[in-house]
Amino acid sequence: CGIVGVVGNKNACDILMQGLEKLEYRGYDSAGIFVTNDSKNSKLIKSVGRIADLREKIGIDVAGTAGIGHTRWATHGKPSETNAHPHTSADGRFVLVHNGVIENYLEIKSEYLAADTFKGETDTEVAVHLIAALAEKEGLNTLNAFKKALTIIEGSYAFALMATEEPDVIYVAKNKSPLLIGLDDGYNMVCSDAMAMIRETSEFMEIHDKELVVLTKDAVEIQDMDGKIISRDSYIAELDL
Ligand code: GLU
Repeated sequence: CGIVGVVGNKNACDILMQGLEKLEYRGYDSAGIFVTNDSKNSKLIKSVGRIADLREKIGIDVAGTAGIGHTRWATHGKPSETNAHPHTSADGRFVLVHNGVIENYLEIKSEYLAADTFKGETDTEVAVHLIAALAEKEGLNTLNAFKKALTIIEGSYAFALMATEEPDVIYVAKNKSPLLIGLDDGYNMVCSDAMAMIRETSEFMEIHDKELVVLTKDAVEIQDMDGKIISRDSYIAELDL
């Protein structure tokens, strides 16, 4: 399973698909991408089976400058198109990919969310609905809703989150699941594995557990759960293709 995200590149779809192909070796049963150009122009495509099957569904007309992609190794809920990621909130505002297991998803479901909100059976869907509920009920912006959700969620995760009204931002967090940033001029990336980004860049930045990253095309802002900004150096790694 794996995650890839890019912001600031005209060929977001190509980059996501190439990234997902590079992540295939990690194993998966389904895959999906969300690609966006601006707040009114976005596309979500999911497929069971191979990346090649997803590619066929995409066709040629997915233009976008940012997006997130996912290969799923089902832990909660059977492999199906509905259970494949990205998952969206009921209003379509939030789009989330996740690797890992949310251990307290049943508790979150009964405490915070209405039963009829759910389309599938994954633990991940609980996270995207929780973020949406916190944003709506507490009037939080995306960053603060995400941050608050992370104080409630227990388990392992690599998350990449987008909000449709901010098509130029990817919100990222991890805990006990791999995820790192890739940097380049005019665009930035996030991925489970450096190997999936080496066609695009050789500059990387680590993310530590329980940090939150706001990724835009020109900036990588890392903060801890208290909102304290963390400065971190990137490093160059010349890996062989
Ligand atoms: N637990 C999530 C699911 O079953 C994510 C699985 C994964 O890491 O791919 O959908």
